Amino acid sequence: MTPPPRPTERSEALFARAQAVTPGGVNSPVRAFNAVGGTPRFIRSGRGAWLTDVDGNEYVDLVCSWGALLLGHAHPEVQEAIAAAVARGTSYGTPTEPEVELAEEIVGRTPIERVRFVSSGTEATMSAIRLARGFTGRDVVVKFAGCYHGHVDSLLAAAGSGVATFAIPGTPGVPASSTELTIVLPYNDRAAVDEVFAAHGDRIACVITEAAPGNMGVVPPLPGFNAHLAETCAAHGALFISDEVMTGFRAGKLGQWGLDGAVEGWRPDLMTFGKVMGGGLPAAAFGGRADVMGHLAPEGPVYQAGTLSGNPVATTAGLATLRLATDEVYERISLVAETLGTAAGKALADAGVPHVVQATGTMFSVFFTGETVTDFAAASTQDTAAYAAFFHAMLDRGVHLPPSAYEAWFVSSAHDDAAVEAVLEALPYAAHAAAE
Ligand code: PLP
Repeated sequence: MTPPPRPTERSEALFARAQAVTPGGVNSPVRAFNAVGGTPRFIRSGRGAWLTDVDGNEYVDLVCSWGALLLGHAHPEVQEAIAAAVARGTSYGTPTEPEVELAEEIVGRTPIERVRFVSSGTEATMSAIRLARGFTGRDVVVKFAGCYHGHVDSLLAAAGSGVATFAIPGTPGVPASSTELTIVLPYNDRAAVDEVFAAHGDRIACVITEAAPGNMGVVPPLPGFNAHLAETCAAHGALFISDEVMTGFRAGKLGQWGLDGAVEGWRPDLMTFGKVMGGGLPAAAFGGRADVMGHLAPEGPVYQAGTLSGNPVATTAGLATLRLATDEVYERISLVAETLGTAAGKALADAGVPHVVQATGTMFSVFFTGETVTDFAAASTQDTAAYAAFFHAMLDRGVHLPPSAYEAWFVSSAHDDAAVEAVLEALPYAAHAAAE
């Protein structure tokens, strides 16, 4: 049954105005709906699991600010903490107490010993790479295809012609000189890692990887893959940077590291965080071994800085969020993620749509391909047209999915039974739309 059309006039009018003054009408490309078509919904407010757009439509939110909102929208205690911080002032350009408290909280919950705050995940990975190069005195960076680390020039790189060759720019505007020290490997491919270290081991400053990729959909590391990276880096004097901007405090209480490193007994040299640790405001971080972090200015020679770094409102929001992120929160998120992932899988199977549901901890995604996805090449076999049909059928029934097939689906502890029920009701219709 097709639901009555939802009004979208105000979103359409805002989108037209936005396009006149902002490229594509958005401030981050995926928001423009280019991958699924149609008009992005301009959101006026959020509460718990729900979004309300400018036309008054309500949606269960399965994006949660791209993972940042672990506790849902407008969590009362987080809001209260933010309001109190704002009432005191918004930025001082001096050290503040919330920064120290958030740093202690993060150091207490992760294997890192010291941490530095920045304002975005991009800054975190960019700074971690600079530090790794400064610490090792080497230049080459190894990354994996399909892993996104923000829009850092040297990481917007596409694989060159062979495994051990240097990368080419992944976008106009990045000069070849910015990627000629980057090597891009297929994800989950140990042999490729070994080959690159055999060829360039004494030049490699670091390997950077998403702790579990979520930016090509969720692709769990094969058992032992992260451990292999950690061991290989250690054997060659390179640093292992685990990017937990997405997975940190989200895949589980201890992030992805809690699911592998903590169990297997290894730790990254450096880690990056963002999203959840900012509680919905711009805060991110990089941190790691005390001796490596000691190379950072003003203690050491590697320069790094930021006008709004460690901002008191953002760090207060992050601190409130992490303190509220109890075992029960993760249990709820885990249950909701599993329920929705299973139901999406069943609906698509009933409709005969090829798909795979993949998860790591509480993070999951639905690939519109019949193949298990272990790397970017497999993720790229998706039927993106089928996803677009599925996406719009869900949107028409009040469920806001990520507007691209290559994204993780995110839930929060505010996704109560009513929100889950609304998604469960919509899924069979959307699966049929995807089958047409
Ligand atoms: N690293 C990972 C794993 C991410 O998922 C992202 C953003 O999605 C980034 C880095 C970049 O973070 P930001 O968008 O805050 O710059």
